[in-house]
Amino acid sequence: MENNIEDADICVVGGSISGNYLCYLLSKKKIKKKIVVIEEHEEIGLPFQCAGIISKKLNQLIELPNDIVLNRVQVAKIVAPSGKFIRLSGKEQPYIIDRIALDRLFYDKIKKKDNISFYIGEKFKSFKYIKEKQQKLILIETTKRKLKVKMLIGCDGPLSSVGKLLGVRNENLFAAQIRINHSFDQNEAVMFFDPRWKELFGWIVPEGNNIFRIGLASSKKVSIKFKIFLKKLGIDINKIIDQQGGIIPYGVMNKSAFDNVLLLGDSAGQVKATTGGGIVMLLTAAKHAASCIQKCFTINNYSRKIVKKYYEKPCLATIGRQLKIHYLIRLVFERFSNEDFENLFRIIKTSNIEHLISLHGDMDFPKSMIIKLLKNFLVLKFLFRFLRKNLSLVIEIVKILKYLK
Ligand SMILES: Cc1cc2nc3c(=O)[nH]c(=O)nc-3n(C[C@H](O)[C@H](O)[C@H](O)COP(=O)(O)OP(=O)(O)OC[C@H]3O[C@@H](n4cnc5c(N)ncnc54)[C@H](O)[C@@H]3O)c2cc1C
Repeated sequence: MENNIEDADICVVGGSISGNYLCYLLSKKKIKKKIVVIEEHEEIGLPFQCAGIISKKLNQLIELPNDIVLNRVQVAKIVAPSGKFIRLSGKEQPYIIDRIALDRLFYDKIKKKDNISFYIGEKFKSFKYIKEKQQKLILIETTKRKLKVKMLIGCDGPLSSVGKLLGVRNENLFAAQIRINHSFDQNEAVMFFDPRWKELFGWIVPEGNNIFRIGLASSKKVSIKFKIFLKKLGIDINKIIDQQGGIIPYGVMNKSAFDNVLLLGDSAGQVKATTGGGIVMLLTAAKHAASCIQKCFTINNYSRKIVKKYYEKPCLATIGRQLKIHYLIRLVFERFSNEDFENLFRIIKTSNIEHLISLHGDMDFPKSMIIKLLKNFLVLKFLFRFLRKNLSLVIEIVKILKYLK
C-alpha cells in the first residue's frame, strides 16, 4: 500500500487563477518544495466563466501583458429598475480581460519547473490526516492516485471539496452569461438593478470589437430571470456567439486556516458581494498565502495557529474588512424598493455626489469612499429613513460591524 502513495510537499487543488498564481509566487520563493497541482478539467482556463472586468489594481498586483487586456471602460452606468440611470466616470477605468489567457499566463510560467507537476484531468476526491514520526500529514485521494503531503491548498472554487471536508460551505449565486455582437457603447459597463435579481445585478461588459458579455446572477431561477433580462434588452438569443454559466460565492470571507490546510480564492469566499468580482481579492490573498507557506516550511510547523497567524489574519486585515463592507452595501441594495433607487439617484445627481464617487470610487476597497459619502447630509438622511423602514437590517448591520475592526 505504502508503495502506491506518492510523496510531495504541497498539493494545490485547482489549476485556475488562484492555484496557478499561488504556484507562480511559490516558484519565486527561496524554498523549493515539491508541488503537485490537481485540476479536474482537461484544459487550463476552460470552461470560461467570467465577465472579466477588473479594476486597474490588477496592473499593480501583477505584471499585466497587453494582449490579456481586451478593452478598458471609461464609464460605469448604473440603471435603476425604472430605467433611470446614473453614469460614473473617473480614475478607475477598469480592464476587460481575456480570462482564459489570465489563467494560462501563470500556468505557462511554471508548467516546466522541475518541482511543480500538473495532474490535469484528475479530480481531488478526499483527504484525511495521518501521523508519521509524530508529524501530522495529509493523505489525499484523487481519481488516479494517493498522495502524501505536508500542506494542502484548496483553490478549488466556490463548491470547494477541500472546504466541504473541513465544514466550510459558501453561500452561492448562480450566473448566466452570453457573448454577442452588438452596437452597445464600447466604453461603458452597465449594471442593471432589479428586485427580481436583487442579490447582484444584470450586466453588459464590452469585450471590444463590438462584442459584449451580457450576464446576470441570482440565488435562484437564474435561467428564467436571464431570459427576462435579455428580452428587456431586446437581445435576439439566436444571434449569440456563445454562452457561459458559473457560480459566485456570496457573503463575507469564510474560515480559511486549518491544520496543514488553507483555502484561497472562491473556495474561501474571497469575492466582493457588491459585484461578484474575486480576482483582485484572490491575487491579494495569494501573496499572504505564499508567505505563510514559506513560513510553515521554514519553521516546520503547519498548525492551524501558524496558518491563521500568517495567512488568515493578514487576509482579514486587508481584504476581509473590505469584503464585509461590500457585503453591507449589498444587504442595503437588496432591500431597496424602486422608490429607494429613485430617491438615491436623485440625491446622487443633485448634490455633487456623482463627482465624489467618480473621484474617490474604488471598485475593490470602498471603505474610504463610504466614509466620505456618509459625511453628506442628504445621504445620511436618506440612509436614516431607509433603515427606519428596515429595522431587521439594522440588527444585521450591527452584527457585521461588531466584527469590523
Ligand atoms: C459568471 C461569472 C462572472 C464573473 N465575473 C467576474 C469579473 O468580472 N471580475 C472578477 O474579478 N471576478 C469575476 N468572477 C469571479 C471570478 O471568476 C472568481 O473569483 C475566480 O475565478 C476565482 O478563482 P479561483 O481560482 O479561486 O476558482 P475557480 O476559478 O472557480 O477555479 C477552481 C478550479 O478548481 C478546479 N476544481 C474544482 N474542484 C476540483 C476537484 N475536486 N478536483 C480538481 N480540480 C477541481 C476547477 O476545475 C477550477 O479549475 C465571475 C464569476 C462568474 C461565475
